[in-house]
Amino acid sequence: MALFNCSFHNHTVLSPCADISMSSDLYKELLLKSNINWLAITDHNSTRNIRPFINYFSNTDIKIVPGIEVQTIEEVHVIILFNKLDEAEKFGKFIESSLIINKYDPEKFGYQICLNGEGDFEYILENPYLGSSSKYSINKLVMEAKKYETIVFPAHIFRAFGLITQLGLPPKDIEFDAVEVKNEKEIEFAKDLGFSNFIFGNDAHTPDELNHFSCQVRAKNRSFIALKEAIYNKKVYPIWQH
Ligand SMILES: [Zn+2]
Ligand SMILES: [Zn+2]
Repeated sequence: MALFNCSFHNHTVLSPCADISMSSDLYKELLLKSNINWLAITDHNSTRNIRPFINYFSNTDIKIVPGIEVQTIEEVHVIILFNKLDEAEKFGKFIESSLIINKYDPEKFGYQICLNGEGDFEYILENPYLGSSSKYSINKLVMEAKKYETIVFPAHIFRAFGLITQLGLPPKDIEFDAVEVKNEKEIEFAKDLGFSNFIFGNDAHTPDELNHFSCQVRAKNRSFIALKEAIYNKKVYPIWQH
């Protein structure tokens, strides 16, 4: 068993609200400094930058998990991590085509930049607007995500766009693999609501948010299966930033 330094929630230049510097080049520099060696890329409502990131990091010791942060019709943020890149990409297209707002002003809301495998800017995604909600409900989203090998967890559940902030109580008929919380108190609140598995991410939108890891995972390797096992076996340890 080894102990890996992780963050399972991070944005790139593709997310309109992320800093325009959040390219694979800068990620590499920051991850080497902060010693993060297992992370998920989870842009808002799209998976377009995952393949470029995986290609870019293929000759390094940094392992990338394909993911997406979807905004449901209830304005709840849900993260889905995938075992297989091609399935993540298929799901990303499915979500993009479900977004309610198509046209947007990048000057106002931020550019949506797609990278190539060398880490260079390839093109600007003009539509849809990735900061939009999907037309899908949280129930529909989780049902669709579970058709694939996935880890599904609501993001920052007590913060803006979080499950509990938006809905008040956890939906009775949905089973999540974990929930994302931000401090010790939130873990206790989440336990009171019946949650028992936890996961942690930096939710990095800016370079300074990648200068630490948000958790450590004890696992035999950095495979998707090992991550899922670690979540259920409570081998994901938070590293709080106070
Ligand atoms: Zn979010
Ligand atoms: Zn996020």
